[in-house]
Amino acid sequence: MHTVILRDDDTCALTPRASLERLYRPFLDRGLPVNLAVIPEVRTTVRTPDGQLEGFLTAGTKLTGALAPVAGNRELIEYLRGEPGYEIVQHGCHHDYFEFGISERAELAQRLERGARSLQEAGFTRPVAFVAPYDRMSRAAFLEVAARFEVISTGWFELGRMPLRWLPQYGLRKLRARPHWRAGRTTLMSHPGCLLSFHHPYAEMFASVRQAVESRAVTVLVTHWWEYFRGGVPDEGFIAVLHEVAAWLASRRDIRVVSFRDVANGAVSLDS
Ligand SMILES: [Zn+2]
Repeated sequence: MHTVILRDDDTCALTPRASLERLYRPFLDRGLPVNLAVIPEVRTTVRTPDGQLEGFLTAGTKLTGALAPVAGNRELIEYLRGEPGYEIVQHGCHHDYFEFGISERAELAQRLERGARSLQEAGFTRPVAFVAPYDRMSRAAFLEVAARFEVISTGWFELGRMPLRWLPQYGLRKLRARPHWRAGRTTLMSHPGCLLSFHHPYAEMFASVRQAVESRAVTVLVTHWWEYFRGGVPDEGFIAVLHEVAAWLASRRDIRVVSFRDVANGAVSLDS
């Protein structure tokens, strides 16, 4: 039996409802949950190191104002609240560059609380999982996030960023080469990179997803809605790959697609 968790990052106040509906209708209709890592209060000027505005800003609706709370997009939040197949996950607070790579605990706590409040104001159920912008977390960030969330989903785990009290479990996990592990009450889940990305050749993408899922007990598949709508234009070829993945996941009786909430509830075995 294989378990799959689909994680889509960067939904925010600028995300058109129609984009998510286009991407995920085939998942929702088949009862496959979609975990949306939502930016609570996006900064509308975030740039990547090469000076470009972030893709989630240029693919979405244009907004004025430095910060845009997701609650401001009524059409989007009513849609998300009306679809039980979407599981909302907290994705930072403003999505500043390496927002949770900093070490000041008071600042980290303030961003976590502010983000949580913003999601609550949008009417979402309290998220059980956290995804850091750019999958980057400092040791202090791991501690502050673990105090508030049951599940942390990130790219990989580096010794130098681990809280000291987690080191015994971290060592054991390394020894057993486990992609996912537990420390205290927190479940820590890694992922095999963004396999569903326009940076990869479309003809090979489905095969790489299939290989990843079949070679692990539990796979977190990460993608970004805006990559399918770069500059606001739908990329039909890429969307077709995502929909091929949906059909394949639903067709396999030995694959179960679950949400991070299922993990938090103890309904998912991480090792088999
Ligand atoms: Zn992000």
